[in-house]
Amino acid sequence: MQRRIIHLDMDAFYAAIEQRDFPELRGKPVIVGGNSQRGVVATASYEARPYGVRSAMPMMQALKLCPQAIVVPPRRDHYLAVSRQIFAILRSFTPLIEPVSLDEAFLDVTASKQLFGTARDIAQRIKARIHSETQLTASAGIAANKFVAKIASDMRKPDGLVEIPAQEILAFIHPLPVTKIWGVGRVTAQTLHGMGVQTIGDLARFSRDALVSRFGVHGDQLYRLSHGIDERAVDPNLEVKSLGEEETFEHDLTQDRDVHPVLLHQAQTVAQRLRGRHLVGWTITVKIKLAERLGEGRFRLYTRSHTLPSPTNDAQAIYRAALVLYDAVPRRQLGVRLAGVYASGLEPEGKNAQLDLFVSAPQQTDKRRQLGHVLDQLASRYGEGIVRLGATRSMRPARSQDPGSVRKEDMHDPVARDKKER
Ligand SMILES: [Mg+2]
Repeated sequence: MQRRIIHLDMDAFYAAIEQRDFPELRGKPVIVGGNSQRGVVATASYEARPYGVRSAMPMMQALKLCPQAIVVPPRRDHYLAVSRQIFAILRSFTPLIEPVSLDEAFLDVTASKQLFGTARDIAQRIKARIHSETQLTASAGIAANKFVAKIASDMRKPDGLVEIPAQEILAFIHPLPVTKIWGVGRVTAQTLHGMGVQTIGDLARFSRDALVSRFGVHGDQLYRLSHGIDERAVDPNLEVKSLGEEETFEHDLTQDRDVHPVLLHQAQTVAQRLRGRHLVGWTITVKIKLAERLGEGRFRLYTRSHTLPSPTNDAQAIYRAALVLYDAVPRRQLGVRLAGVYASGLEPEGKNAQLDLFVSAPQQTDKRRQLGHVLDQLASRYGEGIVRLGATRSMRPARSQDPGSVRKEDMHDPVARDKKER
């Protein structure tokens, strides 16, 4: 049977929430992000986008393009609470949901037709419910696969709904720039341009063999996507590979005692986001960028990872591992420019519940996990201040407690997918 996949993507999510909550921001260019020398744009409102302001752009550059923009610091916990509301709506239509980020998901509604109607009906109902319950707009793309659904959701933002029938897939994707294909970054795009490929249609004229000999395994994927073929399933369990928080400081931090509270807060945020998605992580990674300049805009970067004896979404366990990993970073007294904490090796909470039996104090772990959930509920009810206070009090510097051997791993730069928003 022909699959029906919906890609749902909230419109300018963080900025839209700020404009909803603070009416004085409505109709104005709003940029959510760090307002410092080194801040980065998390989301720009639609009023700021005509000036060329984009996600992941340095704030300084954004403010040069749009000096009248109002910069709003992110309220992460608040966005998480709204995200939960949205995912609860999605879950009432199908359990086959693959979250891509806080504000974006794939839904496989192939089997939902009997209950809820066509994919278009479902997308319309989801958009209407999101709007009535959160006063926010979403855009949806519908197609027979994830690749085409994702491109479709981006076509008529904001508040869009675009369905691509199977027989129109090639006519839809072939005129689009080849950079619309997942995984075609700057380097691949340059190579493709050198081969005379500008559009997806240009790419589709190459044989599979030619692309494989040029790009290896990736070539096969390019070939398939250029022909509109994407068999990847909507997978509710394999959604996020890593979750993390990082911060570039306005001034380099030269004292460990200034970095520790940052790691603590990041560990708390990562734990909260894991719990929000009912996930646990096996591996904790600390990313530290030193003020040591290596060349034009490049700085010494260390990543240190540790795999725990059992997966966790507990702030204290994450913080403890982060502290030990941070201690293993050499020459940090030179000044820390950026610090980040990540969890990877993610899996659904409870999947390995039996493993907890081998943890030294299982009851304590359970209690802490329950506490974590209580804190999350408090956070969504009263805002994050109360939670940070409570969690900080229960937290002790645990540097003498060794969570295990620290091992250096070459790992891919953990990507905080949430930060890239459309
Ligand atoms: Mg979005």
